[in-house]
Amino acid sequence: MKKILIANRGEIAVRIIRACKELGISTVAIHSSADKDSLHAKLADESVCIGPGPSLQSYLHIPCLMSAAEITGVDAIHPGYGFLSESAEFAKVCQIYGITFIGPLPSHIDALGDKVRAKKAAIQAGVPLLPGSNGVVHSAAEALAFAEEIGYPVIIKASAGGGGRGMKIARDAKQLPRLLQLAQNEAKIGFNNPDCFIEKYLEKPRHVEVQLVADSHGNCIAVGERDCSIQRRHQKLIEEALCPVLDEQTRASLCESAVNLAKIVGYQSLGTAEFLYENGSFYFMEMNTRVQVEHPVTEMVSGMDLVKQQILIAAGEKIPAQQPQFSGHSIECRINAEDPRTFAPWPGLVTSYHEPGGPGVRVDSLLYTNYRVPSLYDSMVAKVISHGANREEARLRMIRALEELRIEGIRTNIPFQLAVLKDDSFKAANVSTNFLQSFEW
Ligand code: ADP
Repeated sequence: MKKILIANRGEIAVRIIRACKELGISTVAIHSSADKDSLHAKLADESVCIGPGPSLQSYLHIPCLMSAAEITGVDAIHPGYGFLSESAEFAKVCQIYGITFIGPLPSHIDALGDKVRAKKAAIQAGVPLLPGSNGVVHSAAEALAFAEEIGYPVIIKASAGGGGRGMKIARDAKQLPRLLQLAQNEAKIGFNNPDCFIEKYLEKPRHVEVQLVADSHGNCIAVGERDCSIQRRHQKLIEEALCPVLDEQTRASLCESAVNLAKIVGYQSLGTAEFLYENGSFYFMEMNTRVQVEHPVTEMVSGMDLVKQQILIAAGEKIPAQQPQFSGHSIECRINAEDPRTFAPWPGLVTSYHEPGGPGVRVDSLLYTNYRVPSLYDSMVAKVISHGANREEARLRMIRALEELRIEGIRTNIPFQLAVLKDDSFKAANVSTNFLQSFEW
């Protein structure tokens, strides 16, 4: 592989460019006209404007992307996360063009990208699931029958859903038909697919996910797990590796379940199997067939460069034979351009930017001084990652790193993140996915 086009923007495009540079691979950035001054466009060897600001006409526009790939003569395309990263159609188009898609095969995305199909594969692989419909529910009567069987509360989810959107919690039979209708309508509009299913809603689970790395030679390993329980409206805000509350035995069986799921479809590339964990048991939720936002915490504790590994797998190389060893603890905070109290997006001109440094601190960001954060895209502008000999050192390092980080001109959630990091329950790792619902600062 000599030249890679990065079909993405922001910090993940910068992250991929860095991996390519270290591998001696040339890079092509694509960007919208709203992103002409973006860091990824500046750092890549070549950059091509592929359309106007709105994503549908640029980052999601397959013909424009493929034209840029043809003109620049790339061997491969890295989709990053979001945008087209989990589009089997895009992966197929790349195949037709003879360009390597740096990700799984289209058939893997088809088999695992959709939540209902992934559950079917999980059943086959003997992976534990929450009680629920497993398949699509077609009517209110069907949903009511399942809910009666598994008991309330239940959660209604879109099969094609993502990003924490469109989930509804029904606490009794009176609410269920209306919420199902609402969820189906939202799913149709948001994901172009009205299919919904129901499962048991857990009140205080932790979100624990396994990092999978699989090559095209049939090798698949789990590079430990991450705990992503600090979420706002089902969206992750702080992630850590490894999960602070798993014992070795549970870790081993969780990782084995995830590997079994990957193996049953012959999966290759990076992937993440997401689980809920409550009262000592874990339940499979869904598989993400791409690199995750929170991949750096796994890199920090395992020493494995996941993005380079993903590129090497796509180039046909074998993954390292030895099982990964873990060292210390790592925490990631997502820094968003938003008001820290109301969470309203707050894009604009960054008048001054200073990154923290020192031992055990990494920053993956798209910012620089005098950069104007556009309003059109995701509000995440940086990820701060800390690593320490243990969780407490990683936590204290993160606090001092966030106190050092300066982003002036726009509002960010740094004060909010600091408040969470200093909270006694967070310090004690005594949290669930509902922690932020009752969090006051
Ligand atoms: P998405 O694909 O939209 O991210 P997920 O299925 O991965 O959706 O779920 C995202 C989050 O929603 C989980 O981390 C958890 O906080 C919450 N959630 C999902 N399913 C359940 C459930 N059955 N019980 C409790 N919380 C759930």
